[in-house]
Order: sequence, then C-alpha cells, then structure tokens
Amino acid sequence: MRRMLPFCVAALLQFTAVPLFAQPADLDPRIVKLVSSVSEERLGAILKKLESFETRSTMSSTDSTTRGIGAAREWIRQEMASYSPKLQVTFDTYQVAVQGRITRPIELRNVMAILPGRSPRRIYVSGHYDSLARPGGQGASNSGADTETLTARPADPNAPLDNFAPGVNDDGSGTALTIELARVFSQSGIDFDATLVFMCHAGEEQGLVGARLHAQRAVAEKIPIEAVFNNDIVGGDHGGSGIIDGATIRVYSEGPEDSTSRALARFIERWGERYVPSHTVRPMARPDRFGRGGDHSAYNQLGFTAVGFRESRENFTKQHDVRDTYDGISLPYLAQNARVNAASAATLALAPPPPSVVSVRGQAMITRAPTGYDANLKWTSSPGAVGYRIFWREAWGPDWQHDLLVGNVTNVVLPNMQIDDFVFGVAAIDAGGHESFVSAYVSPPRANTPIKTVSQ
Ligand SMILES: [Zn+2]
Repeated sequence: MRRMLPFCVAALLQFTAVPLFAQPADLDPRIVKLVSSVSEERLGAILKKLESFETRSTMSSTDSTTRGIGAAREWIRQEMASYSPKLQVTFDTYQVAVQGRITRPIELRNVMAILPGRSPRRIYVSGHYDSLARPGGQGASNSGADTETLTARPADPNAPLDNFAPGVNDDGSGTALTIELARVFSQSGIDFDATLVFMCHAGEEQGLVGARLHAQRAVAEKIPIEAVFNNDIVGGDHGGSGIIDGATIRVYSEGPEDSTSRALARFIERWGERYVPSHTVRPMARPDRFGRGGDHSAYNQLGFTAVGFRESRENFTKQHDVRDTYDGISLPYLAQNARVNAASAATLALAPPPPSVVSVRGQAMITRAPTGYDANLKWTSSPGAVGYRIFWREAWGPDWQHDLLVGNVTNVVLPNMQIDDFVFGVAAIDAGGHESFVSAYVSPPRANTPIKTVSQ
C-alpha cells in the first residue's frame, strides 16, 4: 500500500482545486481576534452577579428583583441585549405541568440570544443557569447516601424552593461562558454563514427540562440545529481528589463511533487546539459521566448533534451544594474553555454545512468502483463550498489518520484502497479554508427480519 501512495496522490492532483486554499495550519485572523477578546474579568463579573441571586432554582420564587430565578433570568436577558443590536434576545417560555421533579406548575424560561447568520442553520453555545443545592450535595450522593431522602419532595409542594443554592460552577460557569461568547461573537463584526444561538437553559436540575422543551420545539418547528456546544461545570481546575488540571477539557459525545456528535467532538479537538494550542481537548467516547446527565443529551435524544464540555477534574463536594461558590472557580481555566468553544464554533459557523454522504435511499455513497477494489466516494455538494477534504483511518481507532484536500468535486476515487478496511469521511471547505465537521461513510444498521419456520 505504501508503494501505491504516490500514485494515489498523483491521481488526485487532477481533482485539486484552482482556488487557492488557506494552508491547513493557517488561522483566520478574525477568529484569532475573536478568541483573544474573551475576557477573564468579564467572566468573573458575570459569575459574581449570578452568585448574588443566592438561588437560581427553577422552583424558586420569581417575584423578587434581586433573588431567585425570576431576577436571574431578567438580568441575563438585559445583559445579553446590551451587547449589540444584532443580538435578538428573548425568553423561550413554557408552561410546565407537575411531573417528575417539577412539584408545582411553573413557567419555565430559557434565555436565548440569536445572532442571525446568512443561512438559517443554527449552531448553539449553551449552559444552564438554574441551580440546585440539597443536603450533603453531590458528595453525599457519590458516597452512597440515600438520594431519595436527599431529594425528597418539599412538605408543601406549592411553596417556592428558596434555599441557598449559589451554583457558581454548576452551572454558573457554563452560563457565564455562554453570555461572554454572546458578547464576543456579536461584537466581532464577522458575517457568519450559520446563525449562532447563545442559550441559557432552565430546569436542567429537574431533568433537562428546558433543553428538552426547546429541542421538542425545534423538531415541531423544523428549526435546523446543526450543532450544540453545551457547557456544564467548566470553571474549576481543582479536583476534589487534590489533582489540579487547568490545561485540559473533556468533551463528551454519544456514539456510535461515527455519529455526528462524535464528528463534532473530533472537530472541536482539531480546531480548538489550533487556535488555543495551550489547551488540550480530551474527547470522551461516551454520552456523559456515569450516572450524570446534561442538556446536550436532551438534544441527542431528539436526533440533534450535541456534545457536552466538562471540566477535567471535578470537585463533587461542591456540586449541588451550598459550597458551590465563587472561590471554586479558576478564571484562567474558564477563559481557556471559552476560547476553545469560541474557536471551534466560529470556524464551524464560517464553514459551509457538512456535505451529505447518504443517498436519498439512506445508503452511504461509497462503492468499490471502477475496479471492484477501489474506494469510490461520492457526496452532495454543500452551498458555499469551494473544495472538500477527504479523511480516512484504519477501521479500528477513534481519530482520523490521513486527510487530503481535493477540489470542488463531488466524487473521488482512491485506487486500490479496500473500503472494508478504512473509515472514510469528507468535510466541506470555503474559500477562506473554514472546514465543516466530517461526514463519515457508515452502513445503516440492518433490520432484523425473523426467519420463518414451518411447524412440524
Ligand atoms: Zn449542571
């Protein structure tokens, strides 16, 4: 195979584009500037403000202007609206009936800031602004305490749940990151192709309620959500075990191994590390941590592409606890995580949408033609693309091993490459070198038709 490689490349040169691409290592100076404008000082000020509401429980009072979730959501709305007239900031509101951990009827409001792009396809950056504290917190739950007792329903279900629940890391950190990126993106002056949505969810602690409601609405209204970057507990670098790690961030994505969410996680690793080389993205090939959930899963469950950012070393004794206060935050760490989000979301929002590699009949458009031993890849062109990049790897292993830039074509033949031995994918690229995430060629699962037998 190695002997064949020059021939493969030579064969591909005929497809190579006329337009001059940015070299793979090239950075877009506008994205460099956007990433560098993330402010630790502003992140800190947002966190202190969020902490000042004392509780942001979804079940807390809404009549105070200084305390509880009503005050918090109004402040978030006004804060994001102040950044730019381009941002369309609204409450995404639902009347929620009693169910599960919703112990009385409530009005739930996500706070949503939309930065319109040239196309309606949407990329979300999100966190949850609601908070929760219960006796013993997550530390007690992890130590095997009876969580039924810890989360027992209040004596009077109609009384607001107003106990102190600062929630500065869970998830003030993801909320502050989202709010700060709403500012940075809306003030960047960049004309993005995708529409960016900065979403602060509520009801996460009651079972991803705000995210599930919004995802349901997106399905019903056919809102084209291309990707969700969800951030939940991303501000602490001191693990409860004593280990300190301020240089890495975990990104969880549901399988199977070439799902679009996995492709998004690989994309974040690839582009986050280019623009923020001092920070390492650790993709995690699982939906989330054991027994723990986050809003990205609400989108996954309805078929959307979504990943969850999580700090690398958690301190469980502070989570869901009155001790989740400002002193548990590392602003330099939170800012690095914000920069990784900013770099990868900006690249994706400038890039064309990922090409489709699936036929109208749902089959991957990959064959062995013309010789029967070649890799023949076809895809559907993406609007705005001036070229495509092919990726492949041995059919054992999580990360792409090879890539090749091809021109503005929708078909490439890699001679004498057995398609059974490699995973292939393709990304769309615009004239500035901005790349979509990779669409991988995968076989759909086979339907099981039971074999009929004849009774004797
Ligand atoms: Zn959380």
